[in-house]
Amino acid sequence: MNLADSEIVASLLSRDNYAIEKDINQADYILINTCAIRDNAEQRIRKRLRELRALQRGRQWVKIGILGCMAERLQKQLMEEEDNVSFIVGPDAYRQLPQMLDNLKDGEKLAETLLSETETYDDIEPVRYDTNGITAYISIMRGCQNYCAYCVVPYTRGRERSRDPRTIVDEARTLFNKGYREVTLLGQNVNSYRWEAESGKRKAESEADAATSSHISVGFPQLMAMVAEVSPLLRVRFATSHPKDLSDELLQVMARYDNICKCIHLPVQSGSARMLKLMNRHYTPEWYLDRIDAIRRYLPECSITTDVIAGFCTETEEDHQATLEMFRRVRYDYAYMFKFSMRPNTYAAKHLQDDIPDDVKTRRLEEIIALQGEIALENNQKEIGKTFEVLIEGVSHRSDQQLFGRNSQNKVIVFERGDLHPGQYANVKVTRCTSATLIGEVVDNK
Ligand code: SAH
Ligand code: SF4
Repeated sequence: MNLADSEIVASLLSRDNYAIEKDINQADYILINTCAIRDNAEQRIRKRLRELRALQRGRQWVKIGILGCMAERLQKQLMEEEDNVSFIVGPDAYRQLPQMLDNLKDGEKLAETLLSETETYDDIEPVRYDTNGITAYISIMRGCQNYCAYCVVPYTRGRERSRDPRTIVDEARTLFNKGYREVTLLGQNVNSYRWEAESGKRKAESEADAATSSHISVGFPQLMAMVAEVSPLLRVRFATSHPKDLSDELLQVMARYDNICKCIHLPVQSGSARMLKLMNRHYTPEWYLDRIDAIRRYLPECSITTDVIAGFCTETEEDHQATLEMFRRVRYDYAYMFKFSMRPNTYAAKHLQDDIPDDVKTRRLEEIIALQGEIALENNQKEIGKTFEVLIEGVSHRSDQQLFGRNSQNKVIVFERGDLHPGQYANVKVTRCTSATLIGEVVDNK
């Protein structure tokens, strides 16, 4: 999401005659887009700021700005604590950036951190930089108001709002025409995407209005279908889906279109009913497993990935075992696994104790990682002998004689280059694997 936001920032600034300078030693402004989700994300930024002091000693005019969630969370306090930061801009205030830079005088400090209920940057065509020219992100909504007890996002990114679907489809079409072959639709909880409009106006003003025939209401399944219709050669992915809102209708749409990738990221966070309640996730392990069954029913080939947190407040060994059991039941293809990190302002910070010792959190996390490593390897071994359509993304890091790409399930496959090139689709038969990568050979070229 930060990558997608940085592309919007680049676009807003390039309209105002600023240009991207990739060599940090040549740049006049250094903009750091930040994450506040865990404390170590913030500590990395603080470290980066210390490293940048040396660069500023030789180039005193260079100004550093902090963008994104850390700016929003800490506000002016950040500039007081980090004296080499000249400006901070929260995630809903990027339109102010060009003017801020134009007006920023030496020694001055500026901050814009107002959150918005409507900003979606839907009229901004992001500047794709650092891109492979084949896969791109499209932000479809902003903010979140689910208030999971551990999570800082509702405080740093504001209320949930959805972007006009026509601008999303236009962006997908523009990308396709430029040669891109895959888009990932992004939001904190894409399942709750909903656009309502009344003859061009945002949102119906009354119930009666909503019933008239000119009322447009687009939910996530419809949006997915609209983007999938751009071209059968354009793959569509999405992240993240909240289990509480994963509907059968979405799964049916996914089954209907070959170019909607068969991969669902469904963060479970914990396998324990008690933990899920305390986390305010609004589902039980039974509900979650029912959604997994639905995925397997509609989309037998679908891969499933997850996020999990080890050592949330009051987590017992029994709760932890329930998480391991959930991993054994679902058999995820990939997981992002985290140690709980207490974040200021959250429900947990206000009402709970960070009472699980760090060594216990670490041990539990390591147990989850070890189990997931075994499961991923076993899942990959089952792919040996199967042939997948792969969208080629680039040259393998190991050898320039090999290419890599992903199958619909989002698994990376490496294979001999032949006369193929990035951006093409190829049918690749899997011959070997590791827990992270499939290795294969091209069976025929399309
Ligand atoms: N909107 C997404 C998650 C976005 S944050 C969703 O609800 O699924 C990405 C992940 O970071 C979360 O899924 C969670 O696993 C992790 N995370 C969030 N807050 C955290 C915290 N305080 N400590 C550790 N991990 C956290
Ligand atoms: Fe955070 Fe929960 Fe919103 Fe995801 S759904 S961003 S975890 S509050």
